[in-house]
Amino acid sequence: MTTLARPHQVPLDQRAVDELVKSLNGELIRPGDRGYDQHRRVWNGSIDRHPALIVRCADVADVRSAMGFARAQDVRVAVRGGGHSFPGYSTCDGGMVIDLSLMKGIRVDPAARTARVQAGALLGELDRATQAFGLAVTTGIVTHTGVAGLTLGGGIGWIMRKYGLTIDNLLSVDIVTAGGELLKASQTHNADLFWGVRGGGGNFGIVTEFEFRLHALGPEVVAGPIFWPIREAPSVLRFYRDWIADCPDELMTIVVQRRAPALPIVPQEMVGRHVIAVTACYAGPVEDGARAMRPLKSFGQPLLDLCGPKPYLVHQSMFDAGFPHGWRYYVRSCDVAELNDDVIDIVAEHGRRIVSPITSVALWQMGGAVARIGENETAFNGRSAGFTFNINGNSETADGFDAERDWARAYWSALAPYHTSTYVNFLMDEGPERIRQAYGAAKYSQLTTLKRTYDPENIFRLNQNIPPA
Ligand SMILES: Cc1cc2nc3c(=O)[nH]c(=O)nc-3n(C[C@H](O)[C@H](O)[C@H](O)COP(=O)(O)OP(=O)(O)OC[C@H]3O[C@@H](n4cnc5c(N)ncnc54)[C@H](O)[C@@H]3O)c2cc1C
Repeated sequence: MTTLARPHQVPLDQRAVDELVKSLNGELIRPGDRGYDQHRRVWNGSIDRHPALIVRCADVADVRSAMGFARAQDVRVAVRGGGHSFPGYSTCDGGMVIDLSLMKGIRVDPAARTARVQAGALLGELDRATQAFGLAVTTGIVTHTGVAGLTLGGGIGWIMRKYGLTIDNLLSVDIVTAGGELLKASQTHNADLFWGVRGGGGNFGIVTEFEFRLHALGPEVVAGPIFWPIREAPSVLRFYRDWIADCPDELMTIVVQRRAPALPIVPQEMVGRHVIAVTACYAGPVEDGARAMRPLKSFGQPLLDLCGPKPYLVHQSMFDAGFPHGWRYYVRSCDVAELNDDVIDIVAEHGRRIVSPITSVALWQMGGAVARIGENETAFNGRSAGFTFNINGNSETADGFDAERDWARAYWSALAPYHTSTYVNFLMDEGPERIRQAYGAAKYSQLTTLKRTYDPENIFRLNQNIPPA
């Protein structure tokens, strides 16, 4: 056997590598190859890893070839869709990245109101393809996030209170298992696996294609943020809490805390000021949305009101500029049942302490259709959560990143008495106990049994890992 070892590489059987290359419709990239640095990078700039092999799959056959090689050569595997894993699980040192980003096919069937979506598609690409027919499925709030990782963890977004999580609209998946088999999973095929992929992340195989149910939406919706100075956070949040108490499912809001960003839509005198914003999206007729927003719009004296009718696609990309590739990101997340006075005080206090101009908090309103699906119907946990915190301590470079991380941890710790569940897609690398907590004991146990069936050797372990029972 000829072996070849370069920096960051495990010794590999050169003949097996050559055979892999020959079998691929896509391409194999190794350290030193053109494009290696571009393709090894992931969204979070604080992650800097050097895989030995990057297989850029063009089709399902490539995914199966890559899996066959990884199994035979005992190479560890990272799976990459959009590359937005906060802890950077879609890359690794020394192993193989199975990169699906070339597989971007999206086929919308407007009559059946369904879409078939390959695993390399990004949210913005999916939204654009569905909105061409006045349709949509719940996706997330930053368009360059991957459909694959977001869906497999659950998928929360602007229209979830009306139409459910992304997984609540998932009809089937095509999935390559650890053994290299291509399976379909749906309510009627491999139903146990279908239960697991709806929240269980990438633990059970490599999904190559998703099939979604779509809904009529837009093209215009009433959406956007309304800003107040952060010192008014307690009164804004108390008003907000009462206002959303009996709001319709069409209305979805995210409270944002940050320093006002330097964007063309933000007046110069506001840039850098600590602000609290309620950002809304009304998934229904524009007139109804305008009516629903009136009370909030007339609360106090907003610094800036950018909430109004706009194309859904414009709203979907609203947060893109705040989360570009390459900055350093650290997130802490938890769910809380309610915004009681204590929680509001914690939010107000920690929001005032934000230092970095790119640090931000997103406090998601949950409920509606998400909460009407049974807790055990999918592997997703926390359907009864009132709110989900996403506390992002960010910096552009390594300078100041430690302080941002400390701030995020302190904020999250202050909320500890009120923590309920945790959204698995907002976990960092926080250890097995946090993953168990995220799923809850019963669901976690069910997931470990499923893992034993579909991935008994835990080949798919670079993820929020569920070890086989
Ligand atoms: C800027 C930003 C905004 C976000 N906004 C939202 C949001 O609005 N709503 C929300 O719900 N989440 C959101 N998230 C969290 C997001 O859902 C997760 O980070 C998700 O894992 C990203 O998916 P990806 O395909 O881009 O990531 P990747 O890093 O490519 O993949 C993440 C993990 O998913 C698994 N995986 C990826 N592709 C496959 C596949 N084809 N088959 C099997 N496993 C696979 C792997 O385990 C991989 O490690 C956001 C994240 C970021 C960074």
